[in-house]
Amino acid sequence: MLNRGATMQAVAQAIAAGSGDEELAVLVVRGRRTRETELSLGYAVADALAAAMEAKLVASLRAQDTVLRIGEHAFVVLLPGVRGRQHAALAAAKLVRALGQPLMLEGWQLHPSVTVGLALYPSDGADADTLCLHADQACHEARNEADGFAFWHRPVHADSFTHDELRDALARNQLELYLQPVLDLHGSRISGYEALARWNHPRIGMVPPPAFVGEAEHTGLIGELTRWSLTVALRHLAQLRREGHMVRMNVNLSVVALQMPGFALQVMDLLRVWQVPPAALALEVTESALMRDVVRAQGVLAELHDEGIRISIDDFGTGYSSMAYLQRLPTDELKIDRSFVIDIATSDRARHLVGTMVDLGHNLGLEVVAEGVEDEATLALLRDLGCDRAQGYVIGRPRPATDIVSAAGV
Ligand code: C2E
Ligand code: CA
Ligand code: CA
Repeated sequence: MLNRGATMQAVAQAIAAGSGDEELAVLVVRGRRTRETELSLGYAVADALAAAMEAKLVASLRAQDTVLRIGEHAFVVLLPGVRGRQHAALAAAKLVRALGQPLMLEGWQLHPSVTVGLALYPSDGADADTLCLHADQACHEARNEADGFAFWHRPVHADSFTHDELRDALARNQLELYLQPVLDLHGSRISGYEALARWNHPRIGMVPPPAFVGEAEHTGLIGELTRWSLTVALRHLAQLRREGHMVRMNVNLSVVALQMPGFALQVMDLLRVWQVPPAALALEVTESALMRDVVRAQGVLAELHDEGIRISIDDFGTGYSSMAYLQRLPTDELKIDRSFVIDIATSDRARHLVGTMVDLGHNLGLEVVAEGVEDEATLALLRDLGCDRAQGYVIGRPRPATDIVSAAGV
């Protein structure tokens, strides 16, 4: 049975492996009344039932699909490359039928049944956590459906923002910059901050960054969003450094922005305007986005790197880096994805894996940062593993930049 971290990791990998215009269906499959089977017929029958369910799932699916066991009688199923809801619905109906066949187990005749919830990437969620949550919510709803399966539905009240609203918010400077501290694990000081954008929409409240970043990428607003992030981050960095905090600033970058003509020049101009040395700026690009178009990204990254700007590979571990590319790309830093870090205090396997990633980074001459560190035990282990820096709720949550940088002069 997989723990939460390993499950999220597998889902994140399936997202990263997609080609962009295909959909990924995430299904949560749960056995009905299995607790009753366990109590009335015993653990051996309940265990045999779980094994039979898993075998039937595998037998009903295609070779490229994945079955992850997440609970006693609960599974996450990943169907890459589905063609729309109709296609996913057919697969769900097939699973409900296959797992609803009567079974003889340990001399008992069983009449099992399951409920299935579906969420599609990218329309029903932008990341593994959201997709699994939505598929599980749909699975709960499916109890009331005759077919035994249900798709996730966006709650009616929380409707979405429009393209025009995002454009206006950018034009009117209504986005806010939050900063999250990064701790140096060799000493114990804050060595820098990561800049994270926030949009508090007047009608629907906080919009998750992946939602508006994705919208900006698809509609040509990404240039403006990137310019905004860089400008505001550098303005705060300049003020921090004037106050004597010789910190670094990490800014997230969409690869779409990286491919805009003249991008490197634009960054250099901004550095000059704010009088910040290039080495105090790190640009983060996610591993999966980078690997999708490594050839085109390579040139711009080299330009930025030659100017002395640091390049950081974000969400490392979820994007299938080729070792050859990793060695060739002009990079300075690897950020180990949160899904690997969250389990190191409880799983030897996770700890060894993160240790291996730290060594890999060091062997390539890179600094290694762990993200999503939520407790002291994890922090201590990361120090033992030789990790260079850490970021996460136990060190500090993202806070409005204006709270961190003293208001004077900014
Ligand atoms: P990311 O770069 O991986 O950022 C880290 C995310 O993890 C942030 O979410 C942060 O709030 C969250 N986080 C930090 N520490 C912890 C922890 O200990 N536990 C947990 N559970 N979460 C933690 P956020 O701010 O919602 O950002 C999500 C993603 O949106 C970012 O992922 C980044 O890829 C993107 N993003 C944010 N701001 C910008 C921006 O200005 N430009 C671009 N292009 N992308 C941005
Ligand atoms: Ca980041
Ligand atoms: Ca990250």
